[in-house]
Amino acid sequence: MHPLHRPVLQWYADHARDLPWRRPEASAWSVLVSELMLQQTPVARVLPVHDAWMERWPTPAALAAEPAGEAVRAWGRLGYPRRALRLHAAAVAIVERHGGEVPDSYDDLLTLPGVGDYTAAAVASFAFGRRHVVLDTNVRRVLARVVAGVELPGSSVTRAERDLAASLLPDDDATAATWAVAVMELGALACTAARPRCADCPVAHLCAWRAAGHPAYAGPPRRTQAWAGTDRQCRGRLMAVLREADGPVHASVLEAAWPHDDAQRSRCLETLVSDGLAARTGPSWGLPA
Ligand code: SF4
Repeated sequence: MHPLHRPVLQWYADHARDLPWRRPEASAWSVLVSELMLQQTPVARVLPVHDAWMERWPTPAALAAEPAGEAVRAWGRLGYPRRALRLHAAAVAIVERHGGEVPDSYDDLLTLPGVGDYTAAAVASFAFGRRHVVLDTNVRRVLARVVAGVELPGSSVTRAERDLAASLLPDDDATAATWAVAVMELGALACTAARPRCADCPVAHLCAWRAAGHPAYAGPPRRTQAWAGTDRQCRGRLMAVLREADGPVHASVLEAAWPHDDAQRSRCLETLVSDGLAARTGPSWGLPA
């Protein structure tokens, strides 16, 4: 065993959050839904939407039987609603190509709409107990600090990072799967981006960044996402109106929702249509059928 394994695995056994998609009875579908939702949204906001989603659509077939617009409506305020369309498309693909069962191999998962390397590895690992490198931002930050001795990883995953993560994977499937979720949880709860809780950390004695005195990040500038006044905010407002309406809404309602900039509103509506998130019929707008 690598010296990091035992303390991280023990810490996880003692401190892991009880999340619905981690429970023994959780289905692979629940894990897949959670992974799509968690891609850009914090756990606290995902929890109620995930619960409602699984209640309404407990299987891929249940979701695939409904219009994609219902998935967009149920996505609520999680943001980046194209993920709802992808999840719906994944449900359809699971029904058509896998008999309604979420496939258990990384390669098959990777063929599903909206499923990239990270999600395929995460579902294969968390739902099916397979041995895979699962690199999300939390894992990358922990490894950057503990092993590389830097505060934060670079903006995109490097070959060296992937090789490092692979070299740290425990040999057997079950321990590797627990290790993957345990490192992720350590990053989410203790080794956080802004305020790492080194005093409570099970690998503080092994951490290179801590040993070096927590030197500040010295890499290239990191992207920060603006929000106010952006197309993202405008799209979010418009989508909220469409989601919350019982049926199509007149263009004037959308104008009232984003009155500041007509050109921006028109542009955003066009992109919502081209993304498949909205549809227009005459002067009215609604969710896709
Ligand atoms: S000692 Fe601090 S910086 Fe190092 S892994 Fe633990 S929480 Fe993160």
